[in-house]
Amino acid sequence: METIEADIVIIGGGPAGCTCALYTSRADLKTVILDKNPSVGALAVTHQIANYPGVDSEMSGDALLTLMRDQAVRYGADYRRAQVFGVDLAGDLKTVYTPEGTFKAKALVLATGAMGRPASFKGEADYLGRGVSYCATCDGAFYRGREVAVVGVNKEAVEEAQVLTKFASKVHWITSNDPKQEDFHAQELIRRDNVKHWSKTRLMLINGNDSGVTGITVKPRSKDEEETLALEGVFVYMSGSKPITDFLGDQIALKEDGGVVVDDFMSTTSEGVWAIGDIRNTPFKQAVVAASDGCIAAMAIDRYLNSRKSIRVDWVHQ
Ligand SMILES: Cc1cc2nc3c(=O)[nH]c(=O)nc-3n(C[C@H](O)[C@H](O)[C@H](O)COP(=O)(O)OP(=O)(O)OC[C@H]3O[C@@H](n4cnc5c(N)ncnc54)[C@H](O)[C@@H]3O)c2cc1C
Repeated sequence: METIEADIVIIGGGPAGCTCALYTSRADLKTVILDKNPSVGALAVTHQIANYPGVDSEMSGDALLTLMRDQAVRYGADYRRAQVFGVDLAGDLKTVYTPEGTFKAKALVLATGAMGRPASFKGEADYLGRGVSYCATCDGAFYRGREVAVVGVNKEAVEEAQVLTKFASKVHWITSNDPKQEDFHAQELIRRDNVKHWSKTRLMLINGNDSGVTGITVKPRSKDEEETLALEGVFVYMSGSKPITDFLGDQIALKEDGGVVVDDFMSTTSEGVWAIGDIRNTPFKQAVVAASDGCIAAMAIDRYLNSRKSIRVDWVHQ
């Protein structure tokens, strides 16, 4: 698999990550942004962003994010869609693992936001990594010819279920609310031969044994009885509001509320690693705050990589 080296790898392509990339690219630092899905972050799902300075009050969060991403790419940032599932923070070069390849960088920036959630279905935590997964692109191939379930109705659930249809013999799509009729991708998914849509159905329990998931128990709203399905994989895509730090293990300090601990320069407790935006679990989760964090980290990284004593401001052009 490909190994790519850069000065900076930024995990997360929201306003925090894209702003950081804009500044580091302009400082001539080789910058890679790894983003699992440009449609699922907090700004991407914001219907209308009326309070970001200087933009039209009718603009959607998605449109603003596209502008930010395009601007960073225009200055040289290498934006890639990839879900990070692990990092190694030891040593001078930080290593980032994705299904698409391994990335190594002198500076690592964590900008995955706070749209995560704690495991909340019965059995979810018990079988995490043993049949329960949050990444079809990472784990889908393990389920070739087997039955799996996808839980959730958001855009990410639809895209990940599409990936799974290439491998699994059957994909059970469990949605507590039905997807909209005008959602073309969801309707196309439902029509696929190896998809069974469990409409208005709740996941009650993930069943398993020592070797992992063996099935799930569901409760359709239209029936009095629960039903048990035999399958081997459960892919969960529910929204939440918890900092996304699961890929870090216990390699950096977190606050009690789950946010990453940083100093005034957005440096974490691990040298060469910064954290910006909602992943810090700031009390003021706003796009402009996330963008500001990205700028601060970028300038601190420029100083760190070039062993400068002082921060060099972006507007001093020689
Ligand atoms: C419904 C809603 C409405 C809001 N309205 C406003 C508003 O009107 N004005 C305002 O200023 N703010 C608003 N906010 C808050 C604002 O959107 C956030 O504060 C801001 O988007 C945080 O930016 P971020 O870059 O830290 O995270 P996010 O925008 O959440 O971006 C994180 C990115 O990281 C990616 N990612 C996550 N995990 C991984 C992984 N393992 N590997 C690779 N990539 C990963 C995600 O796909 C996403 O693209 C709103 C938030 C919500 C949820």
